[in-house]
Amino acid sequence: MFTIIPCAAGCGRAAITGSQLCAIHAVNPATEVSRVVEWIQNRKTIKDLNAPGLHFEQVDFSNHHFYGCNFKGASFSSCTFTGVFMQMVFFDLADFVDCTFTNSDLNFLSFAGSRIRNTAFQMSEMTTINYGGALMLDCTFTNSNLYNSRFIDTDIHCSHFIDCNITRVSFIKSRQVEVSFEQSNTGEAIFTLVE
Ligand SMILES: [Zn+2]
Repeated sequence: MFTIIPCAAGCGRAAITGSQLCAIHAVNPATEVSRVVEWIQNRKTIKDLNAPGLHFEQVDFSNHHFYGCNFKGASFSSCTFTGVFMQMVFFDLADFVDCTFTNSDLNFLSFAGSRIRNTAFQMSEMTTINYGGALMLDCTFTNSNLYNSRFIDTDIHCSHFIDCNITRVSFIKSRQVEVSFEQSNTGEAIFTLVE
């Protein structure tokens, strides 16, 4: 698991791996992004990476394995996650727009408080994932296994769960507007607290 090394500027944020500074205090954040992307692309397995607050645009993360990584408050625009394996990866308060997860294997992830827009999750294993307090807009989950995930207190708008396994998935206190569950096993999901 990643270790938080505080930013040398004393702001309390986590420093980026390979730097002594956070994304806010980096002299040139774009250079930090390039350095982290190159670091990722040069290895199949990425462990214990700290990359909070960075902005990734049109980055292809496909086929890499991520363990115990920290992307808190990072943003991802038009990024591709095909065939990725992720375990214990934190995307809390992150921002995703126009991204795609296909044939991915995701376990024990957190998207708590994140904003996920126009992003597709398809043909993926995505079990025990926390979407608590997130905002999801124009998202589609297709042919995926969401077993034991939690959408507690999540705003889900104009999004679709098509032919997904939602066994033990909790939607308690979620707010849903124009959400469909076509061919998904809603009988096995949890929508309200049992008295
Ligand atoms: Zn800082």
